[in-house]
Amino acid sequence: MNIVFPGSFDPMTIGHVDIIKRGAKLAQTLYVAVMDNSQKNYFFPKEARVEMAKEALKDIKNVVVESSSGLTVDYCKSVGASYILRGLRNTTDYLYENDIAVANRKLSEIDTLFLLSAGDQTYISASIVRELITFDADLSGFVPDNVIQWIEKNKQK
Ligand code: ADP
Repeated sequence: MNIVFPGSFDPMTIGHVDIIKRGAKLAQTLYVAVMDNSQKNYFFPKEARVEMAKEALKDIKNVVVESSSGLTVDYCKSVGASYILRGLRNTTDYLYENDIAVANRKLSEIDTLFLLSAGDQTYISASIVRELITFDADLSGFVPDNVIQWIEKNKQK
């Protein structure tokens, strides 16, 4: 089966990568959909978020990274996916994710699968990483090494 992991990935963290690695084992192809929602203000533009995701995931064979600006369920249909994958860190995530999963189920036959965050990655969020980038702090342990390199390289441009 094909599975879609949608998200902002602003930027991709090791928490995301962990969920993707574990989700890829369940899927024929796992599509990582870098969402571009016109109502959201992103820290990194879409192209940068896609490039960083591709860097972070280049060693996982059955993962495809694409961007999408429409509804997640429409993207799922376009790639023949019958499941959405999301990660859960805590009860705040659960309450938010529950509403989205039920809405997606109302819109389509597509169900959402949840994987619990690995215990040592529960504290990692893209918003903390953005804060660290703003203050030029060390990102190791928060984002994959090749994403740190991508950020460093593109900062100098
Ligand atoms: P969105 O803006 O759609 O919430 P995010 O990029 O913030 O996108 O998150 C994408 C998914 O990854 C969500 O399901 C979120 O709960 C999950 N996620 C984020 N950080 C972690 C983490 N550290 N461990 C597990 N799942 C995570």
